[in-house]
Amino acid sequence: MGEPIIVIEGLKKSFGRLEVLRGIDLTIHQGEVVVVIGPSGSGKSTLLRCINFLEKPTAGRVLFHGEEVGQRLVNGRLVPLPEKVLDQQRARMGMVFQRFNLFPHMTALENVIEAPIRVRKLPRHEAEELGLRLLRRVGLADKAGQYPNFLSGGQQQRVAIARALAMEPDVMLFDEPTSALDPELVGEVLQVMQDLANDGMTMVVVTHEMGFAREVGDRVIFMDGGLILEEGPPEQIFGEPRHPRTREFLSKVL
Ligand code: ADP
Ligand code: MG
Repeated sequence: MGEPIIVIEGLKKSFGRLEVLRGIDLTIHQGEVVVVIGPSGSGKSTLLRCINFLEKPTAGRVLFHGEEVGQRLVNGRLVPLPEKVLDQQRARMGMVFQRFNLFPHMTALENVIEAPIRVRKLPRHEAEELGLRLLRRVGLADKAGQYPNFLSGGQQQRVAIARALAMEPDVMLFDEPTSALDPELVGEVLQVMQDLANDGMTMVVVTHEMGFAREVGDRVIFMDGGLILEEGPPEQIFGEPRHPRTREFLSKVL
């Protein structure tokens, strides 16, 4: 197994009095595909959002390449990292959401190259080359000049994946990337994700697509009530789940 890229230690997150994450320990290694499953409200999105500090942990910490994300200890006190440093950390973690959030007034290509130009300061022609290469990689070379409204949901989500890849991230975080799609469009997005995994991308994927979890996941995490109740290789989680809650969940979704 590759070296650890993300190390999550004793992670807790509360919203007011609601404790959503109740102590998560998880290490994600280079090249690993970790699939997170579990019922709605179990804290899966919050876990992903804590990884890139879209949510600030209430306790515990997330290390990315050995460095704490978003904050650091100074004289025994946690202080936020300067915005610029946090941006640099986030730039190396691509995130894809259920809703694609493309800029509607920009073409597919413009959506993909916006951040490389603005954040990575790539010259436009280099960014365009990169953007076209990435659109080709997600099967949309012929849609570069198209506006999002003229693309299907599956195509828009593939543009969103290309946009995330344009920052050349070390890890990709997916939060139910196919949940908002019509069923016939799910497969093309999962295929792109599978290709990425085959290319060695480190991925954390929250999904209800059990076929994907089984075939592409190196490890499956089952969450419930803000805790990891069970984790293991897909064969074990799907073949012989040990925790009664895992069994109950799988009996409903499979
Ligand atoms: P999942 O992704 O597994 O469905 P979430 O992480 O989205 O679960 O949510 C877990 C719980 O935290 C839910 O009860 C949800 O309502 C609550 N929650 C999530 N985000 C917030 C927030 N920003 N403020 C208050 N409650 C939240
Ligand atoms: Mg969620």
